[in-house]
Amino acid sequence: MNILVIGAHPDDFEFGCGGTLISFSKKAKIYILVMSKGEVGGDASVREKEQEKVCKFLNARLYWGGRKDTNIELNKQLIDTIEAVIRGTKPDIIFSHYPKDTHQDHRNVSEATITATRYIRNVLFYETPSSIDFTPTVFVDISKVIDKKLMLLRIHKSQIYTTKIKGLSILESARSTAIFRGYQNRTKFAEGFVPLRLSLKFAL
Ligand SMILES: [Zn+2]
Repeated sequence: MNILVIGAHPDDFEFGCGGTLISFSKKAKIYILVMSKGEVGGDASVREKEQEKVCKFLNARLYWGGRKDTNIELNKQLIDTIEAVIRGTKPDIIFSHYPKDTHQDHRNVSEATITATRYIRNVLFYETPSSIDFTPTVFVDISKVIDKKLMLLRIHKSQIYTTKIKGLSILESARSTAIFRGYQNRTKFAEGFVPLRLSLKFAL
């Protein structure tokens, strides 16, 4: 099974689907497309290394989208970038941003994903702390890998206290979200997803 994960910035996908990827890492090939190096939220070279380290842990191949942080435009070129990676990786399932989000980069990457994945049978949206009206209906139990998920976020050392909410770390935010999604799925820790489309065969 091939999995493609698309994110606007380093550390987006770890929050949204890091536990799911850890759970699948032994039985799937994982490909990651990160559109920008997050230079507005930190030093690009530091963030690049942090992202590479996470991908090494996941045994995932990393592609950079070459876009400018906070300036990812929704245009034909963005769709082309995603389509090119899809052609090269032949994913069975794709994870990407949810279309409703306060961050313009997340929104634009999500919208471009919707077009680029029009022939992909399994496409799921993951959440980030800036998602709006996110009501998941598909869940993955990450109870056995919650510590590893938090470790992925800890690898992004430069980003642990950048939530702009005083005293709140991304680790606390991710753990609390996992408990809430877990409760919704009747397990201790979970990640929740909104499907664009999902075949039951895959789900089973
Ligand atoms: Zn982001």
